Amino acid sequence: MSAKLRVATVSLAGCFGCHMSLLDIDEDLLELLEHIEFDRSPLTDLKHCGPCDLGLIEGGLCNAENIHMLHEFRRQCKVLVAVGACAINGGLPAQRNHLALGAILHQVYRDGRGLAAGSTIPDDPELPLLLDKVRPVHELVHVDHFLPGCPPSADAFREFLGALIAGRPPRLDGPLLRYD
Ligand code: SF4
Repeated sequence: MSAKLRVATVSLAGCFGCHMSLLDIDEDLLELLEHIEFDRSPLTDLKHCGPCDLGLIEGGLCNAENIHMLHEFRRQCKVLVAVGACAINGGLPAQRNHLALGAILHQVYRDGRGLAAGSTIPDDPELPLLLDKVRPVHELVHVDHFLPGCPPSADAFREFLGALIAGRPPRLDGPLLRYD
């Protein structure tokens, strides 16, 4: 295995805000790259996750493709981290959980205001099957760490990744531990 930590990241049912917060560590990213290398990630555009030391999961589970990707990450990553509110508890996408999925689809694609006549619910077989409810990742796989926030701050990423590189437990307290 490479001396550098091999890290993969993915956004499931998320908005990429957690990824943007990771990039917010700014120039420290250059120092970070002396200790880590990226596998599958929006930064590399690799489509599948190879064997990794660390997997960062943004977003919860809203469709079958999310589940497939989550299992791939769990298989390939020694340490799996649920990053942000969506991965930890479903977050904003889970606000649909109190509504019936069929009713939402009808309202958005068929019956809502402003839709063109004849609009229908998309049914291309290549579209991933939607889950009835949005789920947090820990309901399906073991999660080793939780990094809360919407998104977690750049300082929280800095502390968390710095601790893993140094081989010590992350200390997320005070302003680093936030749930907004
Ligand atoms: Fe976006 Fe917040 Fe969800 Fe992160 S936790 S993916 S910032 S909505």
